[in-house]
Amino acid sequence: MKPKMVIGNWKMNKSFEEADDLMIAIGEQLAGLRLETGVVLCPPYLYLELATDLAQEAEFTVGAQNCSELKNGAVTGEISAEMLAHLDVEFCIVGHSERRKFFHESNQTIAKKTDILLESQLIPVVCCGEVIEERKAGQHFEVVEKQIKESLFHLSKEDFESVVIAYEPVWAIGTGETATPEQAEEMHAFIRQLIEKKYGTETAYATYILYGGSCNAQNALELFSQPNVDGGLIGGASLKAEEFVGIIEAAETVIKEN
Ligand code: PEP
Repeated sequence: MKPKMVIGNWKMNKSFEEADDLMIAIGEQLAGLRLETGVVLCPPYLYLELATDLAQEAEFTVGAQNCSELKNGAVTGEISAEMLAHLDVEFCIVGHSERRKFFHESNQTIAKKTDILLESQLIPVVCCGEVIEERKAGQHFEVVEKQIKESLFHLSKEDFESVVIAYEPVWAIGTGETATPEQAEEMHAFIRQLIEKKYGTETAYATYILYGGSCNAQNALELFSQPNVDGGLIGGASLKAEEFVGIIEAAETVIKEN
């Protein structure tokens, strides 16, 4: 089993002081743990420089929550992948369901953002997942297959190998209703098999497929124990140091037991 990855998505939360305190607290709790798990914090843009400064001495790296699909120019209010790279940001979430819903991001937009991130040597964390109506109608596999194919399958094998995928059933995000370990495993295995068909076995097994949706320190161990769940993209539970570190400890436990 490869090491796990745990990414915290802070969304639009925390004041500057609170963000500073939280990063320091997470850094302190992770210090000396000799982690195998890759830990990434994705605070709001305004705190990225603070995060990358603190990350120099800490057991985490830094990601952004979004970027522009364009390289640069007259696009008021946007942030480019290149700007993120200059701040030593290493990851960037794209295609989160909140961006798909509130900002109408399509699979095609997500494909463009993925390309522009890869051009700047950032690792795109590409989100996919069905809404509750789609799951109830038994369309979840079809929906996720379309999202993955349209946003990622134009990539060369080499580029694809730099991408992280996050399966986040929309009905589980921020609701407290986690997917069961079986539901997560079933979808992760399905995604891996799609990758295998397109890019081959080695790439499929090397690709990180994270689970997101009401994951917390209590349920992380069972979720991360599933063979195709390579870690988690964590929203609400990444806003409290102890809870987030509890999730990272669950990831470490799974690795040590396997
Ligand atoms: C998310 O928004 O990526 C997420 C997984 O949120 P939560 O953990 O709060 O469900």
